[in-house]
Amino acid sequence: MESFGYTPLQTRVVFGRGTLGRVAAESEALGCRRAFVVSDAYHAKGAAAAVRESLGDRAVGFSSDAVMHTPVEVTDRVLKSVAQASADCLVSLGGGSTTGLSKALALRTGLPQIAIPTTYAGSEATPILGQTEHGRKTTLRSEKVLPRVIIYDVDLTLGMPAGLSVVSGMNAVAHAVEALYAKDGNPVTSLLAEQGIGAFARALPLIVADPRHPEARSDALFGAWLCGNCLGTVGMSLHHKLCHTLGGSFDLPHAETHTVILPHAASFNATAAPRALARVAQALGVDHPGGGLFDLARRLGAPTSLKTIGMSESDLDRAAELATASPYWNPRPVDRDGIRALLDDAFHGRRPSH
Ligand code: NAD
Repeated sequence: MESFGYTPLQTRVVFGRGTLGRVAAESEALGCRRAFVVSDAYHAKGAAAAVRESLGDRAVGFSSDAVMHTPVEVTDRVLKSVAQASADCLVSLGGGSTTGLSKALALRTGLPQIAIPTTYAGSEATPILGQTEHGRKTTLRSEKVLPRVIIYDVDLTLGMPAGLSVVSGMNAVAHAVEALYAKDGNPVTSLLAEQGIGAFARALPLIVADPRHPEARSDALFGAWLCGNCLGTVGMSLHHKLCHTLGGSFDLPHAETHTVILPHAASFNATAAPRALARVAQALGVDHPGGGLFDLARRLGAPTSLKTIGMSESDLDRAAELATASPYWNPRPVDRDGIRALLDDAFHGRRPSH
């Protein structure tokens, strides 16, 4: 065994079906009496209303303003409502955008959070926050934004459309793939990564065939926690940096961008990190990690080219410049020409050969 460092994340996890009903007990256990509930427009009248009902008198405020990329102006507005309500904790219900708003509020108030995720993005399991101001997205790491409790309720995911489930699942798999070749990787995170990739490889085809398949939904949500843990405990490289650039500067949709780029990023790193990528292939049950990830996405009906998710071919040069402007660690050194070629393959949706 090689030497390593590992710091587990201090978050309590409650996992199961119907666990939404545990929210009042969990907030009580945190010593909270005045919860501010955060969600998005989609969940406002459904599951978020159920959370407020479950909390009863403990729910002292509500916002359904969460939107993609956590704009600072939205956070500032909701912050005023949190202060007016004299809240002593935050309860979020929604995808990564909702978790992001809750984290942004926690950063500014120090309030503890209970996160109830409805997608597989994994943000609930990380001390990372991305925020957008004046069109620029920046990312920070702070223990202040890590939720104290995560309530995973499988029932909340049964109605997630198959298309969203697949791209969100591939977004989660991306955290695990990059964790396996992380510079600060460790054997614990790597075990979680393999299990996470395997869970999605098994569950997503079943979910596409039957979106209400309870065991597959349970597997996928557990996979989301495993993959979120990977993102939370080790550093990411090429794939996440590229997706950050494409999402932030070209306004491409988050999970779809991860889905399209992942096979190419895996293939780009395959020769530089052969053992890690072999573990990816094994977890997927395929011979070649890049080709296998591409085939999985295609088989599940997910987008496989940047062209189909809103990228213009004329922006590829600028994307390559931006993505290589500030150096970062990656198993294979990142150079402009290599990234331009990768982007060309991803734009046209070419299947990586390894
Ligand atoms: P999202 O939260 O924006 O949700 C996408 C859409 O799906 C929204 O319209 C939402 O209302 C809808 N939706 C969510 N759950 C649903 C469900 N169960 N059924 C039907 N519709 C549902 O998207 P996301 O992909 O979950 O999160 C993306 C955001 O999260 C990005 O801003 C990304 O940067 C951030 N993120 C952050 C981290 C982190 O660690 N900080 C990790 C992953 C993602």
